[in-house]
Amino acid sequence: MRKVLLTPGPLTTAAETRAAMSRDWGSREDDFIALTGRIRSRLAALVEAQETHEAVLLQGAGSFAVEAAIGTLVPRSGKLLVLINGAYGRRAAEMAARMGRTVVARTVSEAQPVDVAGLDDALAFDASITDVFLVHLETTSGLINPLTAVARVVARHRRRLLVDAMSSFGAVPIDLRATPCAGLIASSNKGLEGVPGVAFVLAERSHLAEMDGNSPSVSLDLHAQWRGFESLGQWRFTPPTHVVAALDAALDRLTREGGVEVRGARYRRNCEMLTAGLTRLGFSLYLLPALQGPVIVTARDPGQPWFRFSEFHRALNESGVVIYPGKLTEAASFRIGCIGAIRQTDIERCLEGIADFVAARRGARLGTWAEAGQAGSS
Ligand SMILES: *Cc1c(COP(=O)(O)O)cnc(C)c1O
Repeated sequence: MRKVLLTPGPLTTAAETRAAMSRDWGSREDDFIALTGRIRSRLAALVEAQETHEAVLLQGAGSFAVEAAIGTLVPRSGKLLVLINGAYGRRAAEMAARMGRTVVARTVSEAQPVDVAGLDDALAFDASITDVFLVHLETTSGLINPLTAVARVVARHRRRLLVDAMSSFGAVPIDLRATPCAGLIASSNKGLEGVPGVAFVLAERSHLAEMDGNSPSVSLDLHAQWRGFESLGQWRFTPPTHVVAALDAALDRLTREGGVEVRGARYRRNCEMLTAGLTRLGFSLYLLPALQGPVIVTARDPGQPWFRFSEFHRALNESGVVIYPGKLTEAASFRIGCIGAIRQTDIERCLEGIADFVAARRGARLGTWAEAGQAGSS
C-alpha cells in the first residue's frame, strides 16, 4: 500500500524526484559544480532575490541553516529580538543564546500572530537591538505571521530581519524586493518537495560580505560556505550529492506545476478540505481561519475517553496515512500536514480514516457512557 505522509517534512515526494537520486556524482566534477550553481540561482529567483541576495546551501536539516544564519549574520556584539509564537521561535532564541548572542524575546500565545505594534515599540525603545528574527509560518500550529508588516517595521527602524521561511518557502509567494530581509532560511524537504538533507539561506550580499569570521562555528559559517561556492563553485565539505540532484528535479516539478502561486493554491485547497472535514467530524480547530496558513492544520484533542492519540495515530497509519506522532503546541492537539506531492484523494483518504476511527471509537464508547449515566442516575 502506498503510504502518504501528511507530515510537513519529510513529506510525500514524487517518484521522479526520488529517481533523480539513482546516479552517483563526483562532488568536484564540472557537472556537479554546474548543478550547484543552477540550484543557487533558481532558489534566489523563486523569491526575486537575484540582484540582492546570495543563496548559500548548507548540508543538513533546516535547523542547521537557522543556526548558521544566526551565527553568521548577527554580529557578535549584536542583540537579537526573537518574535515567538511557537516552538520554532523558541528554538531560534535558544540557538542565539547558546552561541553567545544577546537575545531578547517577545512572546505571544501560539494561537496569535506576532505583535507588530509591540515590535514597533520595542525597536523604538531599545536602540541596542540590531536584528529581529521572525518565523514566517509557525509550523507548531500552522499559523502564518504577517511577514510584510514585520519587514516594513524593521526596515523603518533600520534594523536587520532574519526570517525562518522553512515551511512557507515554495508554499507561499515571497518577494524579497518588497520585503527587506538580511537572511531568509529554508530547506529542501518542505514546500519545495525535495528529499531531506540540504538547507539554504538567501543572505543579503552586502551584509554577508561583511561577516567574515563572525560565525562561532567553522562548519556552519555561511560566509565561508559562500566564498567556497564563489571561488571554486564547490562545497567546503562533502555535499549530499543525491539530495542536491533530487532538489534540482523537485525544482523542475515546481516550474512545471506553474510556480509557487499555483502550488500554494493546491496546498490551500488541501488545507480547506482538511479544516472542513475535521470540523464536520466534530473536531475543533486550534487556529482562527484568518490565521491559518496552507501548510499544516492543528486540531484540538477532543479530551474525551474515546480519543487516545496513540491509537488514532496507529489507526491512520494502518490505513496508509502518516501524521506526526505528537503535538507541538502547548495545548493538547494533533497536526495534519497539507503539503507535499499529494492529491485531493490523499486528503480524502485521511478524512475517511479519521471518520472510521471516530465512528468506531465514539460510537462504541457512547454506549458505555449511556450505561454509566443510567447507572449513576439510578
Ligand atoms: C521544519 C521547520 C524547522 C526545522 O527544520 P528541521 O529540518 O526539522 O531542522 C524550522 N522552522 C520551521 C518553521 C519549520 O517548519
